[in-house]
Amino acid sequence: MPQTTNAIVIGAGVMGASIAFHLAEHGLKPAILERKVTASGATGYSSGLVRMHYDLAAESELTFKSYQQYFSQWKERVGGECGFQQTGFLQIAKREHEAKLRGNVINQQKIGINTSVISAEEAKRLFPDLSTNHFDYAAYEPDSGYADATLTTNSFIESAKRLGATLIQNCEVTAIRAAGGKVIGVDTTQGSFDAPIVVNAAGA
Ligand SMILES: Cc1cc2nc3c(=O)[nH]c(=O)nc-3n(C[C@H](O)[C@H](O)[C@H](O)COP(=O)(O)OP(=O)(O)OC[C@H]3O[C@@H](n4cnc5c(N)ncnc54)[C@H](O)[C@@H]3O)c2cc1C
Repeated sequence: MPQTTNAIVIGAGVMGASIAFHLAEHGLKPAILERKVTASGATGYSSGLVRMHYDLAAESELTFKSYQQYFSQWKERVGGECGFQQTGFLQIAKREHEAKLRGNVINQQKIGINTSVISAEEAKRLFPDLSTNHFDYAAYEPDSGYADATLTTNSFIESAKRLGATLIQNCEVTAIRAAGGKVIGVDTTQGSFDAPIVVNAAGA
């Protein structure tokens, strides 16, 4: 007999963990099916950089929301620990890329991000151990830093579990089942699961 649940998330990397947490916050009881263990994919290799400087404004907007609504207030928003350390962040650039750097920073300031362009000399004053021979300018984000990607994942999962989610590890999804044009569940190495919602967060 297939096990029945109202949502399935395939993969317990940081994306699957976040999706499961948010589904659980919306009243669903997702089963998170992971073929190995949590954070065993790309997540476990991540440097956990939390920064907002991107060339695309949409990415900056998204990472700003992640910083503002989650990483800067993790305990209150999610519960547990994500290991966020505010170290400051520099995106360095040579003189020939100054206009591009300044353009990005103007876009990011419009979003509300605390960022500015500083010279290599100013960067050296802020971070005396930094070698400044290879750049002329930097975008400086004092609020940014890094988190612990594995801790972040486990924290999402623990909070999702408190809200009714289930984590099943060593459970590889081998097929997604459909009927009548709709997804109805999955087959796994631990049997079949029925659910009207299946989210594939199995990584790149
Ligand atoms: C070296 C490195 C450094 C990085 N540094 C940063 C950084 O500083 N900042 C940043 O934001 N990002 C960074 N990233 C990117 C970041 O790690 C990824 O974007 C993120 O972890 C992707 O998460 P995910 O959940 O989509 O994928 P994954 O972490 O790969 O999770 C997918 C999960 O699905 C499971 N799975 C796969 N197939 C199945 C199946 N059939 N059934 C069940 N489970 C399955 C896998 O085992 C895995 O656990 C870095 C990545 C790498 C590799």
